[in-house]
Amino acid sequence: MLRTRMTASLLFMAAVCHGQIMEQARRIQAGVLGIDSHNDTAQRLLIENVDIGNRLPDGQVDLPRLRAGGIHVLFFAFCAPDYYPGPEAVRRTLDMRDAMQKVFDKYPDQIELATSARDIERIVGDKKIAAVLTVEGGNQIDNDLAVLRMYRKLGILSMTLTHFRSIDWADSSTDEPKHNGLTEFGKQVVREMNAIGMIVDVSHVSDKTFYDTLEASSKPVIASHSSCRSMSDVPRNMTDDMLRALAKNGGVVGVNFASGFLNQEDGNDLKTRIARRNTIDPKLSGAELDQFAANEMDRKLADHAQAGLATFEDVATCIDHIVKVAGIDHVGIGSDFDGVPSLPRGLEDVSKMPLLTGALLRRGYTEQDIQKIMGGNTLRVIREVVGY
Ligand SMILES: [Zn+2]
Repeated sequence: MLRTRMTASLLFMAAVCHGQIMEQARRIQAGVLGIDSHNDTAQRLLIENVDIGNRLPDGQVDLPRLRAGGIHVLFFAFCAPDYYPGPEAVRRTLDMRDAMQKVFDKYPDQIELATSARDIERIVGDKKIAAVLTVEGGNQIDNDLAVLRMYRKLGILSMTLTHFRSIDWADSSTDEPKHNGLTEFGKQVVREMNAIGMIVDVSHVSDKTFYDTLEASSKPVIASHSSCRSMSDVPRNMTDDMLRALAKNGGVVGVNFASGFLNQEDGNDLKTRIARRNTIDPKLSGAELDQFAANEMDRKLADHAQAGLATFEDVATCIDHIVKVAGIDHVGIGSDFDGVPSLPRGLEDVSKMPLLTGALLRRGYTEQDIQKIMGGNTLRVIREVVGY
């Protein structure tokens, strides 16, 4: 009887303590800059024509849930599937830029395009969501630096050098290497991005491309949505040596929430999916190709039903690991919401972010540390590369 009463009182105390930490976490999360350096919501805007001004019944991101989760700055990735040939990939990128513009025009009081660090601070200060635009895959410039420069003029601030497949000038981590890293033209792309104030993103590239990029870049780079290979041995994740090299470069890794990036068993499943995805080659163009992509998206969403084994605590463990290896100044958030097959329990959508902040508080992180992780570090890179 006595033992039952003691257990009950311990459980009660634990619940009170959890409640206090979550109250503190929600307060902190509401006040952080809240940068998430990768999500795939722009694809939903284009293909499904979703209205993110309202709470959507599905997916992980919309304006109400961004506000609830304390994510006030979102990198919207324009991703043309790897099977889009160069010119089609350029068209697709412009279509996504247009879909994004419709959101800016419809909700000017809620979301705004940010093209500098100062813009981000002002927009968040105005209680709006700051949208940072990015391109996910160097194939989307169709081997033409003029296209890259025009993307920058359209307000696109970053580009991932490859997506899932190796391209004409860079090897991907999830495809056969074709060039042993970055070609001479690939190095030119990196230097041009440095020159025009675009952030080089090394998520998705092969290890050799990663090191070649660090050598070619005179500016800090980001891995916008990658996690730790020590937790899940998938080629998309960063080794400890890569984390140290990124820290030396002054860059930041945004931790990816995909269950497969945080848990080895989920990771093995992810490898199979990527291998299948890389064989798709519809040999279509124009509207027929877009219809094919829409069908693929439906198939992908249907496939996303099952939950993984990872939990929100695994995200905190990955952040912890990066802090230990690279330091507190080189870690951020890169959820990959609306783009991954399964998410950790507890982080089912962006509104749940305070749970992660609570986990960090319980691990001894201070409010100042959390401000760095939740945007301060990534803002520093934006300021250094894009400008203030
Ligand atoms: Zn990606």
